[in-house]
Amino acid sequence: MTQPIQRLAHLQTGTVDLHVQHVEGSPWNALLWIFFGRERIEGLPLSVCVIEHRDALILIDAGISPRAVTDPEFWPDPVTRVIMNNIFRFHVEPEDALGQQLSRAGYAPEDVDKAIITHLHFDHVGGIADIPGAELITSTESWEHMLGPHPEREGVLRRDIEIPGAKWRQIEYTPIEDATLQPFTQGHDLMGDGSIVLLPTPGHLDGSLSVFLRVDPPILFVADLCYRTDLLIKEQFPGTGEHELLAESWARVRELKARLPDLLIVPSHEEAAVARLLAHPLANGGR
Ligand SMILES: [Zn+2]
Repeated sequence: MTQPIQRLAHLQTGTVDLHVQHVEGSPWNALLWIFFGRERIEGLPLSVCVIEHRDALILIDAGISPRAVTDPEFWPDPVTRVIMNNIFRFHVEPEDALGQQLSRAGYAPEDVDKAIITHLHFDHVGGIADIPGAELITSTESWEHMLGPHPEREGVLRRDIEIPGAKWRQIEYTPIEDATLQPFTQGHDLMGDGSIVLLPTPGHLDGSLSVFLRVDPPILFVADLCYRTDLLIKEQFPGTGEHELLAESWARVRELKARLPDLLIVPSHEEAAVARLLAHPLANGGR
């Protein structure tokens, strides 16, 4: 039988400069580094991955919208606006929009069948209007979190998620009997052939998930579970997220990596991970 995943590509919807404390953690209260931190790690990718499965064209995440930098009302509430504008320094041009990035890589945006949204942060859902035909898949926990009070304070903008015509579907995890994926015992087999398995990895934001691709070598897209793989390996927590939950998710990912030593761990905002992904036999750096 042929391998269901035939090709992979990486798209970048712009870059972001993050405070070093955001990425690598800090003993300071977050508000201190948000407002007074001077050192930033520059040019971090805002990633979208393309999976050419034999039965579907699938994205992992939808990137940021250029409106995040051009629209002064992007953050509706002024307090959140001030905080977000101090956390993030984005570099996003109009041509970085998801639709244009897809076209440049040789894909018709309307041909995208599914987009797995790892979590509902604004820099992962910004391009959903560009892929109107896609089923948008996220976890039930992510969706419920969005429906809770003031999700915008955590970077979740309902206005840009519940857009007219968007075909959202929330998945539930079921027990998985796949020994390859231990210690994960719950997951969602997206295509029913074991090639793409969504795994619960909470800790960054309620309901955050990771995506396992059964290719050779195997890949685990962890989104923002960590900002850099080396930090997950040595258990150095970032400046954000719930560290107790992160510790559990990170331990599972490290155990998976110990069982599958050639596993490629790919965070959304790690430049070196993008380079490793582009070196994968199924990726050829876009076309
Ligand atoms: Zn995030």
